[in-house]
Amino acid sequence: MNRKKSDEIITILKEVIPNPGCELNYNNLFELIVAVSLSAQTTDKRVNSITPILFNKYPSPESLGNAELDDVINIIKPLGFANNKAKNIIEMSKAIHDQFNDQIPSNIELLTTLPGVGRKTALVVLAEGFKIPALPVDTHLIRMASRLGYSKSNDPVKVEEDYKKYIRKEDWIISHHLFLLFGRYHCKATSPECSNCRLVDYCKFNKKK
Ligand code: SF4
Repeated sequence: MNRKKSDEIITILKEVIPNPGCELNYNNLFELIVAVSLSAQTTDKRVNSITPILFNKYPSPESLGNAELDDVINIIKPLGFANNKAKNIIEMSKAIHDQFNDQIPSNIELLTTLPGVGRKTALVVLAEGFKIPALPVDTHLIRMASRLGYSKSNDPVKVEEDYKKYIRKEDWIISHHLFLLFGRYHCKATSPECSNCRLVDYCKFNKKK
């Protein structure tokens, strides 16, 4: 990979995906961090189907922090891992209320002190909620990095570092969306749509085949 090639890839992705963005629905930073926490191991579509029920009943960090565990488990059950996710979002809400005066912190060190908030969730909140340059790496970005030659690693932190070597800081946020959406809908883990791919000339996976 080099900077020129990376610029070309991103230019193509911008053409292929004209309106890249977060597919989770949210109305404020609290809803964003809860929705992102709930999105692990499930689809954004499923999260969007339950968050209106959750936030209608528990609209604030204080109310969700005081919620009955069983009630939250019941609401979020369709997402899977409901016990852990419910515990985490209740504890996270308590911490946001008690320690941060209902404000979502805007730096990674404080965000990752919140229960259930790891590096990826924190970076999504920074990028999406605060528009602070960040490049969260999920399974789609790891796969795209390997196929396009950004990184050989499976470690999200290393892959993030490798992307950042070639992607301009002003493109970090949009690149996260572009690679995620391209991986989710086009360059899928199984049966990627290679016969109809604008990145075929840049792709190592396709050459291997
Ligand atoms: S050619 Fe296939 S594997 Fe390579 S980027 Fe395109 S869809 Fe993905």
